[in-house]
Amino acid sequence: MKRTLTVKTTSTTQFIEITGDIEEAIKTEGIDDGVCMLFVPHTTAGITINESADPSVKSDILMVLNKIVPWKEAYQHLEGNSPAHIKASIIGASEVIAVESGRLKLGTWQGVFFCEFDGPRARKVHVRLL
Ligand code: ZN
Repeated sequence: MKRTLTVKTTSTTQFIEITGDIEEAIKTEGIDDGVCMLFVPHTTAGITINESADPSVKSDILMVLNKIVPWKEAYQHLEGNSPAHIKASIIGASEVIAVESGRLKLGTWQGVFFCEFDGPRARKVHVRLL
């Protein structure tokens, strides 16, 4: 099963939880057990799994990423968005999660987050269910 989710971001840097959208796709496709592959086809965005219960966790991660990758530096990339490229490489572009009983096999506190580093934009997440 192939599906592409659209994520509309509203800030320069932002984490948007997409766990519900992925589980809805799993339900719609009637997948009971398998593997869910997620891939972000962008060079200034990423995907990660982390705590979804307390929203301050994602703001703490963004705060530290913004601190360790300064906006102003002697970057050579002429587009002017090198910090976004660097953050995207740190976070990564893919995740693989087991599907059991029609749901993502995540830990109690885990959620899947799309990570915007050069927004706002309309973004894509490719979902493959095997
Ligand atoms: Zn660029």
